Amino acid sequence: MNTDVLIIGGGIAGITAAVEAAEVGKDVVLVEREHWLGGRVVQMHKYFPKLCPPVCGLEINFRRIRQNPKIKVLTGASPTKIEGDTGAYKASIIIEPRYVKGDFSELTECADKCPVEVPNRFNFGLSKVKALHIANELAYPFGYFVEKEAVNDPAMKEFAAGCDCIDLDMQPETVEVNAKSIIYATGWEPYDANKLDNLNFGKLDNVVTNMMMERMASAGGPSQGKITRPSDGNPITKAAFVQCAGSRDEKHLPYCSAICCMASLKQNRYIREQYPDAEIHIFFIDARTPGRWEDFLQEVEDDPKTIIHRGKVARIEEAENGMVTLTAENTLTAKLEQVTVDLAILATGMVPNAIKDKPHINLKQDKYGFIENIDNSGVVAAGVAASPKDVASSNEEATGAVARVMKMMGGK
Ligand SMILES: Cc1cc2nc3c(=O)[nH]c(=O)nc-3n(C[C@H](O)[C@H](O)[C@H](O)COP(=O)(O)OP(=O)(O)OC[C@H]3O[C@@H](n4cnc5c(N)ncnc54)[C@H](O)[C@@H]3O)c2cc1C
Repeated sequence: MNTDVLIIGGGIAGITAAVEAAEVGKDVVLVEREHWLGGRVVQMHKYFPKLCPPVCGLEINFRRIRQNPKIKVLTGASPTKIEGDTGAYKASIIIEPRYVKGDFSELTECADKCPVEVPNRFNFGLSKVKALHIANELAYPFGYFVEKEAVNDPAMKEFAAGCDCIDLDMQPETVEVNAKSIIYATGWEPYDANKLDNLNFGKLDNVVTNMMMERMASAGGPSQGKITRPSDGNPITKAAFVQCAGSRDEKHLPYCSAICCMASLKQNRYIREQYPDAEIHIFFIDARTPGRWEDFLQEVEDDPKTIIHRGKVARIEEAENGMVTLTAENTLTAKLEQVTVDLAILATGMVPNAIKDKPHINLKQDKYGFIENIDNSGVVAAGVAASPKDVASSNEEATGAVARVMKMMGGK
């Protein structure tokens, strides 16, 4: 395959770069390691500033992709090797099989009968899903696949043997892409909350992360959008947000992820919409809500049932009836405060995927793994791959990345 721009990562930044480049006449290959596009945004219930569901931003972009023959999308795909130099890169892309071959209606029938269930990773394991499934209601491409972890399951093998539309023997393929330029939009993953021993995530069911909360509030989530206690499905009478869970902490993520305060203020609204009488506590070191986002903070501050504590949560412990107790020192009053709630939500930060899955080309990364844009080699990073940021800034940066690679290609 020959292309002008190879884009690695099909989240909002990669998608934006793809449509922007293709709509000025460039050939684009968009490579996404999952079997669907959309990155983290597709997992959200709503996104600020407008608080619209992901469908409003993504659907139009999916339509632009579908209608534009200049964009070739490879899902289940990621680079294994990239060689070359400015204007002439050669990338080897491995494409994982979906393990399916039937048409859509046959697969739907087959999926109904599939005997194997796996933890639903789209819902962060808060629910289970058939091993043969469609990833989410917005999936692009909208199609079935078998979760890789189920491929060697004996029950799945037995099922596949009697089913014409699954082939568990399918093998990955490798394609070579010759590209004049590359945009890295590989995004982020949530900081691993299991590392925060003092907060007991993973041991207490009613301690969840902010990304889990997005799924809990979403209609496609584990409880069809009703926010309840994961331990028993009971309603929420009291909840607490734990800001900077691991962030701005030398032992974990020393940097600020820039969006966690806004994410929690947004999620405060999710709870308030469903539970007008719930008591909600927010523990901040300080609230970072620049520019127009300050309005969000003001609205929460005006809510008489939301209590803001200035202090970092030191520990979360089990209390009676599945509840959890948070302890923090209030830095304004120097008093120790304790609240007991149904649900604690940890505002964990964003870790660049490029820290583990290093770019296969010599790019400069800072000490946290974010990719630094420094030269004119024709390789540019955009979105959270480059630094923590929101969707609007990721989109701006993606558009800027296209402008940069166009310039490098001499505007041609
Ligand atoms: C709890 C929470 C709530 C948030 N809410 C909001 C909000 O309401 N509004 C807002 O503006 N922002 C919000 N954000 C921030 C938002 O999620 C990011 O701005 C956005 O995800 C950035 O998009 P991206 O494309 O850079 O990265 P991602 O969304 O992470 O997409 C990157 C894509 O690249 C793929 N990828 C990674 N590595 C490879 C590889 N080697 N090969 C191929 N593909 C690869 C990934 O699978 C993924 O699909 C929130 C963040 C958090 C933590």
